[in-house]
Amino acid sequence: MSEKFDCIVVGAGPAGIACAYEVAKGGGKVLLIERGEYPGSKNVMGGVLYRKMMEDIIPGFYKDAPLERPIAEQRFMMVDKESALTFGYKGLEWMQEPYNNFTVLRAKFDQWFAAKAVEQGALLINETVVLECIVEDGKVIGVKTDRPDGEVYADVVVLADGVNSLLAKSLGFHKEFKPDEVALATMEILKLDRKIIEDRFNLEGDQGCTIEIFGDATKGILGTGFLYTNKDSLSIGVGTLLSGLIKHKIKPYELLEYVKNHPMIRPYIQGSEPQEYLAHLIPEGGYHSMPKVVGHGVIVVGDAAQLVNAIHREGSNLAMTSGRFAAETVLLAKEAEDFSENMLDSYRSKLMNSFVGQDMKKYKDATHHFDKFPQYFDQYIPMVNKAASQMFTVDGSSKWEKQKKIWKGIGGAREKIRFAKDMYRAWRVMK
Ligand SMILES: Cc1cc2nc3c(=O)[nH]c(=O)nc-3n(C[C@H](O)[C@H](O)[C@H](O)COP(=O)(O)OP(=O)(O)OC[C@H]3O[C@@H](n4cnc5c(N)ncnc54)[C@H](O)[C@@H]3O)c2cc1C
Repeated sequence: MSEKFDCIVVGAGPAGIACAYEVAKGGGKVLLIERGEYPGSKNVMGGVLYRKMMEDIIPGFYKDAPLERPIAEQRFMMVDKESALTFGYKGLEWMQEPYNNFTVLRAKFDQWFAAKAVEQGALLINETVVLECIVEDGKVIGVKTDRPDGEVYADVVVLADGVNSLLAKSLGFHKEFKPDEVALATMEILKLDRKIIEDRFNLEGDQGCTIEIFGDATKGILGTGFLYTNKDSLSIGVGTLLSGLIKHKIKPYELLEYVKNHPMIRPYIQGSEPQEYLAHLIPEGGYHSMPKVVGHGVIVVGDAAQLVNAIHREGSNLAMTSGRFAAETVLLAKEAEDFSENMLDSYRSKLMNSFVGQDMKKYKDATHHFDKFPQYFDQYIPMVNKAASQMFTVDGSSKWEKQKKIWKGIGGAREKIRFAKDMYRAWRVMK
């Protein structure tokens, strides 16, 4: 391995594959290095794949890619110990081309996507760990792998090695992430007959459904649970900030068991068989936790750059878009024969001016706010559920009386002021 490439991409997740695909398509010589047995073998996602950002790379990909179900319905469930307030949207327009989103199983999808990059001319090497970047006079000029004589050189190295990027850290781009900057998610894939899934989730044919679960699913800790329909399996999981797990002394697998046994969730998964158990970190520190993303001869993309919009459970689309922008920058730099930090900085500008940077800024204080004020999850959700129960229970009292009772249920003047302040603060961090 002593050949020189235009670009070396470390990590074959959506960010790295998108980058390798685009560089190869643009005529660049690109090496994609993956530590897993194959792309996707180590990757974890709920997983909703967003059509638009994937189509920006491969138009019409959905005709060919191994997708599970187009999502026709998105539901949101606020759960208390023994109740759920559910709302959502189902639209048949989402079942028509070009569709909106799809559920996917990453082990299948990443493999397919990487094969497309190889078709474009990228060289993919699996089962190879990049140990460090090779730096000379302050410039990244290649990487050292765990293979014998495993040094490889390139004009630009793209770090797509996922959350907690050790390579970006070793370059001094970020410090060790704190427990309130990363979430730990555990999930299972549960085998279930296709017909049962369709009946249980009120789906016709290929229609898919996603359910995001808030409140008691995480025992009131900041985080969410999820339940997604695949073709003949369900993906169920739960993720909370590491700081929450530490503070409440809860083990992640216990939380997953709790979700699976929750009386509002259990009926959906009854009779299913666990097929796979997965756990992974999610970067949720948001804008304030973003590391330096460009250096001389190096660009950081995807989770390695902390690009996750935790409020909208978007990560793969930010990853792909950042990978595409990195590739465009590499091709421009190649043309100009300039791989300086200054030249590569156009990646950062593109990123920050796109929906990726804009959304990261929009929710820059959201995670920290909801983490700091746990009452949103452990008090207000039960309060809203109780209000719904009171309003919908027909017991002979008038609706005026019910409203009064609900209002009284918030507490005294102090509690009401605090509630109003919290709603205002929530609006401010989400607006
Ligand atoms: C439980 C869960 C549910 C999620 N649900 C959703 C969802 O529904 N929708 C959504 O859009 N996002 C979701 N996300 C987030 C999404 O999975 C990530 O944002 C996305 O995978 C980031 O892509 P990436 O390419 O940056 O990193 P990854 O997908 O993590 O890929 C990094 C790759 O780098 C490889 N690698 C790491 N280090 C090295 C090394 N030193 N040498 C070689 N290879 C290396 C890894 O093996 C891996 O293949 C979810 C995440 C989790 C954990």
